[in-house]
Amino acid sequence: MIDLRSDTVTKPTREMRQAAFDAPVGDDVYNEDPTLIELEETAAQMLGKEAAMFVPSGTQGNQIAVLTHCQPGEEIILEADSHIFFYEGASISAFAGVQPRTINGENGTMDPKAIEAALRVDDIHQPETSLICLENTHNRAGGAIVPLENMKEIYQLASSQHIPVHLDGARIFNASVATGISVKEYATYTDSVQFCLSKGLGAPVGSIIAGTKEFIKKARKWRKRLGGGLRQAGIIAAPGLVALQTMVDRLEEDHTNASLLATGLGEIEGLTVENSVDTNIVLINTEKAGLSANAFLDRLKEQGVLAVPFGPNTVRFTTHFDVSTDEVKTAIERAKNCLV
Ligand SMILES: *Cc1c(COP(=O)(O)O)cnc(C)c1O
Repeated sequence: MIDLRSDTVTKPTREMRQAAFDAPVGDDVYNEDPTLIELEETAAQMLGKEAAMFVPSGTQGNQIAVLTHCQPGEEIILEADSHIFFYEGASISAFAGVQPRTINGENGTMDPKAIEAALRVDDIHQPETSLICLENTHNRAGGAIVPLENMKEIYQLASSQHIPVHLDGARIFNASVATGISVKEYATYTDSVQFCLSKGLGAPVGSIIAGTKEFIKKARKWRKRLGGGLRQAGIIAAPGLVALQTMVDRLEEDHTNASLLATGLGEIEGLTVENSVDTNIVLINTEKAGLSANAFLDRLKEQGVLAVPFGPNTVRFTTHFDVSTDEVKTAIERAKNCLV
């Protein structure tokens, strides 16, 4: 099987497994796990933030950010196809008690004017706008890169209104490697950031959230409340450190493979490429082949290729560390067999 469902399927490298084996550990609820502390300090430094905290998943990281920034009864602005709105089981409402206000973006990028128009005013009828969430790269927009300039404009608008900005940067390292803009520069235009260690970076578990010391102090309490206070977590933090040290630059290979895949699949009669393929995600439309996404996926699976449905006629392919260039070429050949 050539598994292009997600970059979350990457398995930890040998070096990560060894690092987990060797990691010095302690009880992290007492702040005594040296490996976890090293991971958090390294991540904070990379992002140019005062402090960082390890969390078990990206979803929990985003939820903790919303819980930390907001009070129940407030409203948060986010992109209509964002992961927080689309894929997190309405937990912003279930747990943080906030109301989502969605803005339709273009390739995942929101127009600052649309955000400005959506800001609430001081009025007894209205909730307060208490957070703006950005996503970069944008998953449902096909790994699209949100331009730094756009983030800056939104951040300046938000700051002028004393509204914090949270970045769901699950794949911010993909954006950084593709543009050459450091994650620190991206993080400049945010108050808090979440990124995933467990996607293209290949670690088995975990995400980081980062922000000011005060933000992380409150966030630690939310993590504990949610049952996310971990004990000898150095075992899972050690692979995360290896990921940051060894797996960032190679994301470029995933991007090259995604371009190759898009070109190859786009040349197949009946398939069209929907997205601009900025990073490691390719969205393929199957409508002209007269196939639903699921029908195409069934045929692909019979051929030994896995991907995921992303709409009635849209299939998402994600390249990653465990799929080589040769396997991408093979996947293209196998896709051809699905349409004859
Ligand atoms: C995967 C993803 C998340 C959530 O990460 P998990 O670790 O799977 O919970 C959040 N945001 C985006 C954009 C993602 O792609």
